[in-house]
Amino acid sequence: MKVIKGDKVIYKFTHEMEYRDKVKPNERFIVETNDCFFQQVQDEDMPMSKLDYDCLNPATGPIYVEGAEPGDILKVKIIDIEVEDKGVTMTFPNEGVLGDQATQTKVRILPIEDGHAIFHGIKIPISPMVGVIGVAPTKEDGEWPTATPWKHGGNMDTTDIKAGSTLYFPVHQEGALLALGDCHAIMGDGEICFTGLEIPGKVTLEVDLIKNKTIKWPLVETEDYIMVNASGDTVDDAIYEASSEAVNFLKNGLNFEWEDAYMLASLTMDLRISQVVDPKMTVRACIPKNVLSTEDLLKGIK
Ligand code: CA
Ligand code: CA
Repeated sequence: MKVIKGDKVIYKFTHEMEYRDKVKPNERFIVETNDCFFQQVQDEDMPMSKLDYDCLNPATGPIYVEGAEPGDILKVKIIDIEVEDKGVTMTFPNEGVLGDQATQTKVRILPIEDGHAIFHGIKIPISPMVGVIGVAPTKEDGEWPTATPWKHGGNMDTTDIKAGSTLYFPVHQEGALLALGDCHAIMGDGEICFTGLEIPGKVTLEVDLIKNKTIKWPLVETEDYIMVNASGDTVDDAIYEASSEAVNFLKNGLNFEWEDAYMLASLTMDLRISQVVDPKMTVRACIPKNVLSTEDLLKGIK
């Protein structure tokens, strides 16, 4: 299996990016990812003034997917996420939801033993996820630092981006130009203090293409749901975007009038917060697959 090393990374998703590796549809490959600090934090007493802030959120890639053309959808199946045996979490004054109450910088390096992270003696089962994953944005959309989530993906920090899930991205550039990084061994929805359990990983992926169909926001498919992952300047903006796209999928996939799709969404669709600490907020609208199958959702896309 091809292994794409974590030594070549990007810090910005742009329309024009030079790819570093090529993969084919249906090929299985491994991507080595760095933690969001590029492994700079190895010591709980390290002064944060020593941190090189230019090396935050590295994403391995870009990876060129053969045959991907603008106007297609790139499908990315996450087969497995293997993480190292320790991760970093931290808090800073003025960071996160309760930044006004956080008076000191604190770093914790947590060991992972038998699939559990240990925090002050509490054993927390890990559930590894990918924080940053995306493709080249449109030319009009400009440049996106890897710290920011948007229509191309990026720092979506969504707990459902984990092994067994399949992601769908709009392709805006030849080869799609996939890049990923910032795995978390665990994270709660919201990521309220600004970090998950930040950790290097080895992510096994398989990619495929859906030709001549496009979507506005990335989708995350789990066993039971297909989720619209939308971001905005506020949680309210993200909720509006995710809901609007999800209702359109219900309308077009089921051939309903818009008002019926809207009511059906209100009856069956969950809005979940992904994260509220990045430069844009991310929310997912979770459509149960027993209400709208993935096949019907894709069929409804013009
Ligand atoms: Ca992140
Ligand atoms: Ca992170």
